[in-house]
Amino acid sequence: MRVLLVEDDTMIGESLREALRRHGMAADWVRDGRAADAVLTSERFDAVLLDLGLPQRDGLEVLAALRARGDATPVIVLTARDALGDKVRGLDTGADDYLVKPFELDELLARLRALERRSAGRARTVLEVGDLRLDPATREVSRGGRPVLLSAREFALLQVLL
Ligand code: CA
Repeated sequence: MRVLLVEDDTMIGESLREALRRHGMAADWVRDGRAADAVLTSERFDAVLLDLGLPQRDGLEVLAALRARGDATPVIVLTARDALGDKVRGLDTGADDYLVKPFELDELLARLRALERRSAGRARTVLEVGDLRLDPATREVSRGGRPVLLSAREFALLQVLL
């Protein structure tokens, strides 16, 4: 799992990055909103841990810009602000989840795993009609259990029909 950590606090950032790596995740770390925008525009992540109070550009603006680009990368908002308004704004802006600092690492890891399961579930929506089976994630089509080879155009057409 590849995670982008957006956090301006050096101590929190370093300890989180270390913890994520110890748990087998690839963790990239940026420290301000503009850097987050830049890396999110050019690279793909399985999840983003997003602090709200950031230099250059606020975390909510980063999140709004991400969603405005049609990017559905799962985002967990990390915030020291435990005011209800911030949580609501974060979720309204398109966050998938949020954690209020200070939080337990175990809870963060559990929520990351939950996000991973949810996005894996979305990607694994196999379309089936009768003995015809189409997996959009692997682009495999089979009929009666036997693989069917299709051109990209045929595949797209079948996907729409199913
Ligand atoms: Ca901060």
